[in-house]
Amino acid sequence: MPCTAQDVIAALRAGAETVTEHRDELIRLDRAIGDADHGENMDRGFRAVVAQLDSASPRTPSAVLKLAATTLISSVGGASGPLYGTAFLRAASAAGDVTELDGRAVADALRAGMEGVTARGKAVTGDKTMIDALAPAVEAAKASADSDATAATVLAVAADAARTGAEATEPMVARKGRASYLGERSAGHLDPGARSTALLLAAFADTVRT
Ligand code: ADP
Ligand code: MG
Ligand code: MG
Repeated sequence: MPCTAQDVIAALRAGAETVTEHRDELIRLDRAIGDADHGENMDRGFRAVVAQLDSASPRTPSAVLKLAATTLISSVGGASGPLYGTAFLRAASAAGDVTELDGRAVADALRAGMEGVTARGKAVTGDKTMIDALAPAVEAAKASADSDATAATVLAVAADAARTGAEATEPMVARKGRASYLGERSAGHLDPGARSTALLLAAFADTVRT
């Protein structure tokens, strides 16, 4: 099954629920290597996205993603707001004006999202950021789309790869963002943004299951 605007809306709502459920965990992770606000930032941002979705009815996957992007950019103060906002904005552009995304389109949107984060934040794999969850997700999504997988399957393999990628940030020394101020002392903790990326993709995959 391809992914419609309604599916993207449902995915974002599920993402918001996950972020609320894991708010304290994300705060705890950010307390260890940052300023303890990642859970709050994400929760505020995604609650705002849900509020927007309650009052507007975007008609295409792209319009839904764009609404999420502008809402995140305007409601999240931390580094993660503009970064996630840019990701959703680039994903929206990549989605074009089609009414349904197939597996290939989902993989392309994911890649465009990651390129947005890279353009804005300049992080590469191994810097201990959300890129360490996103990059393997993008690669797995591409491989899956190359074998003609459905949107649901592409999202599922992307979510799995993101989880593994996020877990791999634990021993890393941060080279971007606030955590980089800690130098070697940033090792031994998961990156909060990589964790939130993995959580969001898992929620999206769970929603777009059929
Ligand atoms: P802040 O650091 O401003 O308090 P958050 O706590 O909400 O913002 O987000 C921190 C997360 O943002 C980090 O865990 C990391 O994953 C991500 N991040 C920070 N800087 C960058 C960057 N330059 N590129 C990619 N991701 C980044
Ligand atoms: Mg923070
Ligand atoms: Mg902050």
